Amino acid sequence: MNDFLIIGGGIVGLSVGLALLERYPGSNLAILEKESDVAQHQTGHNSGVIHSGIYYKPGSYKARFAKAGNASIRKFCEEHDIPHDICGKIIVAKNEEEMPELGRLFERAKHNGLEVTWLTKDELLEKEPYVAGVGGIFIPSTGIVDYAMISQVMARQIRSLGGEIITKAEVVFVDEREDEVIVETRNNTYSTRFLVNCAGLHSDRIARMAGYHVDVKIFPFRGEYFELKEEKRHVVRNLIYPVPNPNFPFLGVHVTRMIDGTVEVGPNAVPGFKREAYFKASFDWKDFGEIISYPGFWKLGLTYLKEGMEEMSRSVSKKRFVDNLNQLLPSIEEDDLVPAPAGVRAQALGSDGKLFDDFFIIGGKNSVHVCNAPSPAATASLEIGKEIASRVGVRLGV
Ligand SMILES: Cc1cc2nc3c(=O)[nH]c(=O)nc-3n(C[C@H](O)[C@H](O)[C@H](O)COP(=O)(O)OP(=O)(O)OC[C@H]3O[C@@H](n4cnc5c(N)ncnc54)[C@H](O)[C@@H]3O)c2cc1C
Repeated sequence: MNDFLIIGGGIVGLSVGLALLERYPGSNLAILEKESDVAQHQTGHNSGVIHSGIYYKPGSYKARFAKAGNASIRKFCEEHDIPHDICGKIIVAKNEEEMPELGRLFERAKHNGLEVTWLTKDELLEKEPYVAGVGGIFIPSTGIVDYAMISQVMARQIRSLGGEIITKAEVVFVDEREDEVIVETRNNTYSTRFLVNCAGLHSDRIARMAGYHVDVKIFPFRGEYFELKEEKRHVVRNLIYPVPNPNFPFLGVHVTRMIDGTVEVGPNAVPGFKREAYFKASFDWKDFGEIISYPGFWKLGLTYLKEGMEEMSRSVSKKRFVDNLNQLLPSIEEDDLVPAPAGVRAQALGSDGKLFDDFFIIGGKNSVHVCNAPSPAATASLEIGKEIASRVGVRLGV
């Protein structure tokens, strides 16, 4: 019997693995991952930003874990020689109407204990000479990194501490009993004292398999990107974000210098009709049926009808996408952008149509289920790992 089994080899599952092996050295731990390598889903398809924690409600998991995670991810990168750059980011108000919301973000940054400075229009242009805006704020603790690279290092460390990472192991059945949990993959059956579910886009299904019928459904939101052609990269020095729409739970299309020197524009947020909906045409009858039969989907659609239609129209029309981007960076033209691989966010949705705002972790008898870990969970991953290891300690009474 294993001491610990973790489902999911994304950055959250790997961080949980590391934290458990540090807290319980010598324990028998395995990670079951359905793909042939780690970090093949959200972790390997994101913007690579080490977030600061500015956007999140003070006191929330997201606010606390993003701030602490920013420091712990940086430390992890330094210890393991992983390239990263704490270049800071600007959030830009494109007109006077956006200034009050920018002011609210400034106050929130202060509440969350972050360093933040106001930028006049001239100071904005000193930082990003091609940006258009009436004012902005600068958050120096934001940085960039490659989370897939971090995951590979975490996987090596887990193996060196005696843990196992079993790939091509899709979990299809879970039976949580009095003092053990039985987990079946397509090829094998495992037994464990404790199970941790970090299955990202499938985490709600695993929780239900284990008998936890909570009111949550993972809703896939595809985030599409363009890459800026090399000859145009000079119009972006670091990270440029718009003031987010306070009524919409995503950050708005931003421009990110990646750690490999490329520049990405995106992601937008369009609904997927398949859990792993990486392409516009991605479709799966089972996933689609589950989505449209869930009352929360229709309520969500009504709440965000206008924003959703705008996002979808910019997804199908590059011209509209670029028109929107030009409010931040007027010198970018349609031909400067080439499509880049998309990512899919695993966002929890309630049957009341509300998107879960914070990380959502369900504590079972012999299991813990991470059922909402969207952005900034890559930044926060090591902190989520520590939190879960301490919850496991409480459950096991050690
Ligand atoms: C477009 C986009 C941009 C983002 N940008 C940022 C950013 O800049 N900064 C940031 O901090 N965060 C960002 N995020 C969020 C961040 O990437 C995620 O929060 C984080 O990667 C979640 O990690 P995870 O391990 O929970 O999920 P995942 O990386 O999705 O891992 C889950 C794993 O579980 C496996 N799995 C699923 N079902 C099973 C099963 N039945 N059996 C076995 N294995 C299974 C999957 O194959 C997968 O490997 C972004 C996300 C997206 C999509």
